[in-house]
Amino acid sequence: MSKVYDTIIIGGGPAGLSAGLYASRGKMSTLLLEKGKFGGQTATTDELENYPGSMEDCTGPALVERMRKQAEDFGVEFVKDEVLEVEIEGKIKKIKCKNKEFEAKTIIIATGAYPRLAGFKNELELRGKGVSYCATCDADFFTDLEVAVVGGGDSALTEALYLTKFAEKITIIHRRDEFRGAKYLVEKVEKHPKINIIFDTVVEEAKGDGIVEGLVIKNVKTGELSDLTVDGCFVFAGYLPISDLFKGKIKMNDRGDIITDEDMRCDVPGIFAAGDVREKTLRQVVTATADGAIAATIAEKYIEEAFEE
Ligand SMILES: Cc1cc2nc3c(=O)[nH]c(=O)nc-3n(C[C@H](O)[C@H](O)[C@H](O)COP(=O)(O)OP(=O)(O)OC[C@H]3O[C@@H](n4cnc5c(N)ncnc54)[C@H](O)[C@@H]3O)c2cc1C
Repeated sequence: MSKVYDTIIIGGGPAGLSAGLYASRGKMSTLLLEKGKFGGQTATTDELENYPGSMEDCTGPALVERMRKQAEDFGVEFVKDEVLEVEIEGKIKKIKCKNKEFEAKTIIIATGAYPRLAGFKNELELRGKGVSYCATCDADFFTDLEVAVVGGGDSALTEALYLTKFAEKITIIHRRDEFRGAKYLVEKVEKHPKINIIFDTVVEEAKGDGIVEGLVIKNVKTGELSDLTVDGCFVFAGYLPISDLFKGKIKMNDRGDIITDEDMRCDVPGIFAAGDVREKTLRQVVTATADGAIAATIAEKYIEEAFEE
């Protein structure tokens, strides 16, 4: 083992990239570890209209590429590797990745979240075969076809609107009798000629021999079952934190969201969490980047105090 970094950031989504920018700009030696694509969930969304200042060219991938480049220009070292294990008790923290091990004075956890399953029969069997969790990734496969969107929050509505560019018809299936999403999105969805809405309904089963051919849906008020012929089913049923690495090591709530104070400190000295992985009310790019900036700034202060000669 050679270098001890001032901070190692786990996760290259908006929270991690923003933490990287602030840490490196504050002259901390900074390593960012990312197991997949830089940009995290934001790299999978085409329309990103609500990040302040991103009116033109407001796609997720474009925004996070600018964040990545900015962090790189300030000196963040990027390594593509998956963190498998962490030792966080001592003053120097140890991180074991698939390919290499690293050490740091502080860790900023920015591992984000992953989509929750809707829980219908054959969901996993037909995942990637008509069942999808990412419209930006898969919409193109459904050009001129009919698809269902499961969910009623902002993500479901945004992605249903995105799918109108490709699919012939989109049916939104929502378990409640009204949407939970932002009003302007609800209005857009309700007015769109390609979108059909079915309230009070859940998906019971995806049908198809190796590929989705239709859904069995159930009205939750009457219990009545019916068939819906679609070629694909996009699920937006919420997200769960990616925090298993830290289970039993830092404080979390029952869902596995990491609990921090308002300065992003966890209950172990030198460990910070930022973005969707932590317990918070609003999971968006703007709050993820804010968390990252705070975590890096407070990590710098922590080092000044804890490693004072
Ligand atoms: C379809 C969709 C549409 C959305 N639309 C909007 C929108 O319009 N506006 C908005 O503000 N927000 C939107 N969001 C939410 C926004 O994308 C998230 O709030 C934001 O990306 C959270 O950032 P994050 O950095 O905390 O986590 P993430 O973006 O989830 O990034 C976490 C990163 O950590 C990496 N990682 C995880 N575990 C490890 C490990 N062990 N080792 C190494 N790397 C690891 C992951 O690969 C990932 O890249 C949308 C999300 C989705 C899915």
